[in-house]
Amino acid sequence: MAEPDAVQTFEDGLTKIRGAYEQALRDATDEPELRLVNGRYVGPQGELTKLLKLMPKLPGDRRRELGQRANALKQEIQTTFDVVLDGIHRRARDAELTGPSLDVTLPGRWPMPGRLHPITRIRNEVLEILVSLGFDVADGPEIELYENCFDKLGFPPDHPATDEHDTFFIEGGKPSGPHSVLLRTQTSTIQVREMSRREPPLAIVSPGAVYRRDDDATHSPMFFQLEGFLVDTDVTFAELKGVLTLFLRRLFDEHVAVRFRASYFPFVEPGGEVDMSCVFCRAWEGDKERTTACRVCKGNGWMEILGCGMIHPVVFENVGYDPEKYTGFAFGMGLDRIAMLKYGIPNIKLLYDNDVRFLSQF
Ligand SMILES: [Zn+2]
Repeated sequence: MAEPDAVQTFEDGLTKIRGAYEQALRDATDEPELRLVNGRYVGPQGELTKLLKLMPKLPGDRRRELGQRANALKQEIQTTFDVVLDGIHRRARDAELTGPSLDVTLPGRWPMPGRLHPITRIRNEVLEILVSLGFDVADGPEIELYENCFDKLGFPPDHPATDEHDTFFIEGGKPSGPHSVLLRTQTSTIQVREMSRREPPLAIVSPGAVYRRDDDATHSPMFFQLEGFLVDTDVTFAELKGVLTLFLRRLFDEHVAVRFRASYFPFVEPGGEVDMSCVFCRAWEGDKERTTACRVCKGNGWMEILGCGMIHPVVFENVGYDPEKYTGFAFGMGLDRIAMLKYGIPNIKLLYDNDVRFLSQF
């Protein structure tokens, strides 16, 4: 049995909407407002929508007729909405055409384009050269085991680098044994990791962040290194010299001279440091006056660029290679230092300050 006043409610609703919708829609001044008003009638919570939900309560003999009237009203609202929206669009277009014209001679506003950080750029350049020489690129974790960082690379237990004053230890802050955990102090850990899981011949480079408790104008507690090594039968120091000389000439200048000085690193024997003729005063050109005045090489014409050496037999033993059968070389460099030399950056801090005025110069 239908409720007696359902018909009345329905008819009153239709009358009320019919008397109000047109003016309400025509009063809207822009499209968002128009859509809002329209929604008050035919949106999910709209007045007409609510009426239509009452349909099942109407008596059977009136339902069809009242339904048709409601739908006709809905159609009228839609038609009015379309007409008013069209008017709003037309007025906006007219305003654009009759308003002040666009001054195309005004300078545009350029979005500031992003660019690669100098260290990323130098890493890409360095890798491109070494990959073209046949090296593979490998990666490793920055959180390392003590043994991969020191023991297996032949560091004696009392080496200063293993001290908590020089290294960030993670668990408890104290070196407690081969499995204590630290932030790697060098990318040489990747030598250990790669050699432990692969057999020679191997030629690998690995760039990455390393961490030390150092903080001054030329040291940062986090910096970037690149490690390279090659292992095979019959590898000699001559190959090491050849690879590094070619590498530095391609990276800096085909004329640079390269010299090797004996030096000590625990994981190589013999070990050496590599100097390159100064690229700031172009020392190879022999302009004595310019070199004498050069602040970078302090007049001696050379600059220190990287460390290298023949991989120590102890390292091979620690990773399960036969040191009688295999030889190899390794080299490491600070990517920050290479970037500073290549781009003439005076202070390492500039690389990490994130100052756009500095970074946009590259
Ligand atoms: Zn110089």
